[in-house]
Amino acid sequence: MPRNSRIQGLRDHTPDERLDLVAEGAGIAAEALAALRPDAGLSIAQADHLVENVVGVIAVPVGVATNFTIDGEDRLVPMATEEPSVVAAASNAARIARVHGGFRTSSSGDVMIAQIQILDAVDPHAARLRVLEARDELLALANELDPILVSFGGGARDIDVRILPTRVGTQVIVHLHVDVRDAMGANAVNTMAEAIAPRIAEIAGSRTLLRILTNKADQRITRARAVFDADLLGGAQVVADIVAASAFAEADPYRAATHNKGIMNGITAVVLATGNDTRAVEAGCHSHAARSGRYAALSQFEQDADGNLVGTIEVPLAVGLVGGATKAHPTAQAGVALLGVETARELAAAIASVGLAQNLAACRALAAEGIQRGHMTLHARTIAASAGATVDEIGAVAARIVADRRIRVEYAREVLDELRATSA
Ligand code: NAD
Repeated sequence: MPRNSRIQGLRDHTPDERLDLVAEGAGIAAEALAALRPDAGLSIAQADHLVENVVGVIAVPVGVATNFTIDGEDRLVPMATEEPSVVAAASNAARIARVHGGFRTSSSGDVMIAQIQILDAVDPHAARLRVLEARDELLALANELDPILVSFGGGARDIDVRILPTRVGTQVIVHLHVDVRDAMGANAVNTMAEAIAPRIAEIAGSRTLLRILTNKADQRITRARAVFDADLLGGAQVVADIVAASAFAEADPYRAATHNKGIMNGITAVVLATGNDTRAVEAGCHSHAARSGRYAALSQFEQDADGNLVGTIEVPLAVGLVGGATKAHPTAQAGVALLGVETARELAAAIASVGLAQNLAACRALAAEGIQRGHMTLHARTIAASAGATVDEIGAVAARIVADRRIRVEYAREVLDELRATSA
C-alpha cells in the first residue's frame, strides 16, 4: 500500500484514533503499532534482559511527525521526546518543504571505525608501515570473526595507521574500517578490533592497549537537503533573516551549540523512538560539528536562485535496525514499522531529514517571532499538569495562563483553584 504522511488534523483526534490513522497512512496493520501503547510496551521482564539491577521503566511520549517526503517516499516519523512543540515543529517544517519535493539525502556508506592503540613502539614510523603491509592478513582475520556480517555484504574493508604525539610519548593508532551494513556496529567492530590486536602487537613489536570504536563516525555520514518555500515561510524577509541566523551559527560556537541542540531535538527523538543509541549519535554529531577545529553549525541555510530557502545538513549517524536494543525493544520495533524503513541507511536518511526540519522550525520561530510564543503555548500544558491539573482540566488551565500571558506554575495553581471553586 502506498504511504501517505500528509494526515491533516491529526492533533484533533484522540491518541487511539491517531494510532489507527498513522497505521493507515503507513500502510500497515494497527497491530504492528500495538507496542506503542503504554500497557503493551517494554515489560519489566524484557527490561530485565536489557540492563542491570532493573527496578522499572520510564515512559516518554511518542508523537508522530507528519508531512515528510524523503527521497520521494512519504514517511510518518515516530519521535520520542518529553519536550513540547518538537513534533509539531518538525511536521510544520516538513509541510513547508513538501511543496518542493521534500527532503533529498545521500550517504557516505555504512563504515564504522575501530581504533587499536599501540604503545611503546620503538620505531613508530616503521611499525606503521609494517602494519600497513599486513593489511590483507589483518582484514581476513577480522572478517573470520563475523561471517554473518560478511554474508550480508559487510565486513572489514581497510586499515589506516596514524602516528600520534601525546604527552606520554608517541603512540601508533590503527584504524580498522568496517562496513557494518544494517547494524549500529559498535559490538561488531569492537569484537574485530580485540581479535586483531594481538597480531598487531606482534607486528609492531610492542603492546596494544585500547581496542574500541570511535564515535566520530566520519565514514558514516548522512546528508539531507530541502527547499523551504519562501511564501509559506512568511516571505523574503523571513528567508533573509533565517540566512542571517544560520550565518551566526556557522561563525559563533556559542550560537552553534544552541543551533545544534535544536537539530538534536529532532535527531535524538527519532534515534530513541527506534531503539538506537542516543549517546553514540550525539557524540558523533558534536565531534563532527568540531571537525574544523572550531565547534560550528551542523547545517546551513541559503537563499536559492528562486528566492526560496535551501537547507543542508551533514551528520554522522551510527544507527541500525539489527543488534542492540533495536530488535529487543517492542516499542522500537513498532517505531521502525511505522517509519517503514528497511535499511539502516534509510533510517539515517529519515533522522537527518528530521534534524534539518527541526532546525528550520527553530530558526524560523527565532527569526520571525521569538521562540517563546509558540513554545510556551505548548509548554503551558506541561505547566498546567505540573500545577496538578487533571487530564480534563489541563486544556482550560493552559488556555487561561496563555491568554493572561502568565505561563507559570504558581499562576496555574491559582487558575486551577478558581476553576475547581466555580465548578464545585
Ligand atoms: P550487535 O553485535 O548486537 O549486532 C551486530 C551483528 O548483527 C553483526 O555483527 C552481524 O553479525 C549481525 N547481523 C545480522 N544481520 C545483519 C545485517 N543485516 N547487517 C549487519 N549486521 C547484521 O550490535 P552492534 O550493532 O554491533 O552494536 C550496537 C550496540 O553496541 C548498541 O547497543 C550500542 O549501544 C552498543 N555499544 C556502543 C558503544 C559506543 O557507541 N561507544 C560501545 C559499545 C557498545
